[in-house]
Amino acid sequence: MAEHIKKPDWLKIRLRGNEHFTQTKRIVESHCLHTICTSGKCPNMGECWSRGTATFMIGGDICTRSCRFCNTLTGKPLPLDPKEPENVAESIRLMQLKHAVVTSVDRDDLPDLGASHWAATIRAIKRVNPTTTLEVLIPDFQGKLELVDQVIDAAPEIISHNMETIRRITPLVRSAARYDVSLSVLKRIASRNIVAKTGIMVGLGETEEEVCELMDDVLAVGVSVLTIGQYLQPSRKNIPVSAYIHPDQFEKYRTIALEKGFKHVESAPLVRSSYHAEKHV
Ligand code: SF4
Ligand code: SF4
Repeated sequence: MAEHIKKPDWLKIRLRGNEHFTQTKRIVESHCLHTICTSGKCPNMGECWSRGTATFMIGGDICTRSCRFCNTLTGKPLPLDPKEPENVAESIRLMQLKHAVVTSVDRDDLPDLGASHWAATIRAIKRVNPTTTLEVLIPDFQGKLELVDQVIDAAPEIISHNMETIRRITPLVRSAARYDVSLSVLKRIASRNIVAKTGIMVGLGETEEEVCELMDDVLAVGVSVLTIGQYLQPSRKNIPVSAYIHPDQFEKYRTIALEKGFKHVESAPLVRSSYHAEKHV
């Protein structure tokens, strides 16, 4: 893969800060919470935080996996914070979110891989914020569907699990996840009548044909919401960008995906799985 490709103009980010941004930052920090917005160095932080939205990351900020595209810390995680479910729920209340998004690091070190902590967090959010719709972006739980069921039973409105990339590139960039295991997780979600959503990055060396195959694969298991965004190398230790995909190609992917039958598609260079998530409920 090419090491140094110049970033095109369409990826230049306009930094915006306003009082919402400062307030969001204060709420997150004062409750000792983590967000994927900061851990993932998300390019949309200016926009999202200024609108008062953020994606909380539960289970700590150290992941047991080490995907080559991801900027999250890797290593031995700290014990779970038992106050985290209530703290996330309270932060969502203070931020007055109509739609909240929560994700987590992978906790392969825990006997239940973090499933009961997930369920407790969803229930706390629902109790404290009965009118807020909730989207959770979950790990693969090593394909243990009884653990996926614990999350489903807690009844969030949308459950998302990212495929991240096409089949051929999956073993090259995802440290432990398997393409077919991720499909099985999405299939379980859709089979329980919850909105199933997935996201991929492009710019890792995939072809259009391979992206279309992925669309067919996830549609076949019941996924109805798809996000497609440009991979951006978050630090020098991460895998380099293979190509900056032109906005016209993103638009083409959007058109193809809608024609194939997805209900909602976000496809643009700066799209991340939680970008404009409130539109998918
Ligand atoms: Fe955070 Fe998602 Fe917005 Fe990025 S797109 S800043 S991760 S809410
Ligand atoms: Fe990042 Fe991979 Fe861990 Fe997810 S599982 S937080 S993508 S290292």
